[in-house]
Amino acid sequence: MNNFAYTRAESVAAVPGLLTSGPRNKILGGGTNLVDLMRENIEQPGGLIDITRLPLAEITDLPEGGLRVGALVRNSQLAAHQHVRERFPVLSQAILMGASAQLRNMATTGGNLMQRTRCYYFYDSAARCNKRQPGAGCDALEGHNRIHAILGSSDACIATHPSDMCVAMSALDAVVQVTGTEGPRSIPIVDFHRLPGDRPDTDTNLRPDELITAVDLPPLAFATNSLYRKVRDRASYAFAIVSVAAVLETENGRIGNVRLALGGVAHKPWRAAIAEKQLHGEPATEESFRRAAEAELAPARARKHNGFKIELAKRLIVSVLSELSRKGTAQ
Ligand code: SF4
Repeated sequence: MNNFAYTRAESVAAVPGLLTSGPRNKILGGGTNLVDLMRENIEQPGGLIDITRLPLAEITDLPEGGLRVGALVRNSQLAAHQHVRERFPVLSQAILMGASAQLRNMATTGGNLMQRTRCYYFYDSAARCNKRQPGAGCDALEGHNRIHAILGSSDACIATHPSDMCVAMSALDAVVQVTGTEGPRSIPIVDFHRLPGDRPDTDTNLRPDELITAVDLPPLAFATNSLYRKVRDRASYAFAIVSVAAVLETENGRIGNVRLALGGVAHKPWRAAIAEKQLHGEPATEESFRRAAEAELAPARARKHNGFKIELAKRLIVSVLSELSRKGTAQ
């Protein structure tokens, strides 16, 4: 681990200035990913800005049923919150399927958004990795790439985003609130994370001087009928091979509203906009769900070991939407 400066932030307003006061300064929240990366010398911050004493750990109601989740709200706190479980069950389910109880007790909402890929080669300093060292190459392209991306990847990087929480937030149209030297701004979560392109070292559209202060969950009445399902190699404490977050509203057997996002398939939580568009107004049947899944996965590109993810994602979409359709009809 490299030497670094440690500063405890005394106010939210002070953080943008602290971030830009030295090279490679980083925010320290729960530290569940960053500290591991520092121990392995993957991350070498010049300074850590400790924000853990800032007043950002509240969940507050927004008008008409929305929620504002402070950046320091712990993952376990968010999953257990009564209004999250009642209004946005997909989010509670997704969080509880991630990591372990101990990690969820430490990990923060803002940190979950900022966690980095679990590509094996990213963590192996002997491997070539464009994300770790731009221009170095990517050993995953011709290596063991069973867990890697099938959508939106590039020849520079085929890593996936590891979060479950962010997949559910993507389906819920969450909005990330940030503040920087130029003041606050709002970033829809679908625009927060980046696809790799030729700059896979940059995971998000957050500017170097910006701090995440909260995530807003807009009111979405039909989100009470929502579901997160995750396929993984172990029953617990494993990242998604493929996951699906879905919100569905049906009227007289037809799809009125649908939100769909995939995890484990791309460099960012993958909002399934093609499938959503195709499903709108269609009969809520397995045939419709399958056609929409086929359309969404049509651009998928398999590498040597991950072709199975394409059919898995399609089946998972059909399975989740079918279950929500049955639940919606029963309500
Ligand atoms: Fe690095 Fe991305 Fe290649 Fe993994 S897939 S080795 S993170 S460049």
